[in-house]
Amino acid sequence: MALFGKPKYTIVRLKKKEIPEGLWTKCEDCSETLYNKTLEENMKVCPKCNYHFTLSAYERVKLLLDADSFNEYDKDMISADPLDFKGPKSYKEKLAQDQLATGLKDAVVSGEGLLGGKKVILAVTDSRFIMGSMGSVVGEKLTRSIETATKNKMPLIIVSGSGGGARMHEGMYSLMQMAKTSAALYYHRKNKLLYISILTNPTMGGVMASFAGIGDITIAEPRALLGFTGPRVIEQTIRQKLPAGFQRSEFLLEHGMIDIIIHRKQLKQDLSLLLEYLS
Ligand SMILES: [Zn+2]
Repeated sequence: MALFGKPKYTIVRLKKKEIPEGLWTKCEDCSETLYNKTLEENMKVCPKCNYHFTLSAYERVKLLLDADSFNEYDKDMISADPLDFKGPKSYKEKLAQDQLATGLKDAVVSGEGLLGGKKVILAVTDSRFIMGSMGSVVGEKLTRSIETATKNKMPLIIVSGSGGGARMHEGMYSLMQMAKTSAALYYHRKNKLLYISILTNPTMGGVMASFAGIGDITIAEPRALLGFTGPRVIEQTIRQKLPAGFQRSEFLLEHGMIDIIIHRKQLKQDLSLLLEYLS
């Protein structure tokens, strides 16, 4: 007889209350703890100090183009490893790692779409992929986009977020992209077509020294770090203290290097007006 059978209850072990990961982000500038949902709704701009967080290339496309209007070019173009580059990590490993982390094949997304109803070519570099640096794929995709814009007499917008400049893993092949993109832009300009360059944090090195630096109109997001060599290296080289805010958007606007600083919330509207007036 099962008089002393198994007890008819179960033991519930209460877990310590867990805070789900990925709910909060600390502002990189003012250190405020921000609720991710609030940050998303605010276009990834800190509501307290206006710090503009990095956007992925697709987030940027979504922000700027009319819904469902984007037609992407050359999505599957991938890089070769012409130098068989070996470092702490080989180039092949680095590419595979960043492809997995970002879902991108390389550091630029390009295509055509509508901005405020107007047809444009848009390319965006993504600083999460080898710091948004320019190798053969970035250079080739940009050049094809520029040439398509020239051929079809369309305005062109390139958004740069490239802390890495020219990609060292491809050596001279990367450096050649500076000349290639600039030459393609020359023909675009020769056809009296509009090219707007948008600089976001950070845009440096060979990217700043080529296509990003030669827009007909150069726009920057607030407080972005923009330049060729970073401030720390310059300070070490010239052994002088640099002025406050050196290489930030506001400093460059004051010194005539860029035309206008536009807050992310205002960007699409202002671009739409520029396109209407100038293209
Ligand atoms: Zn902040």
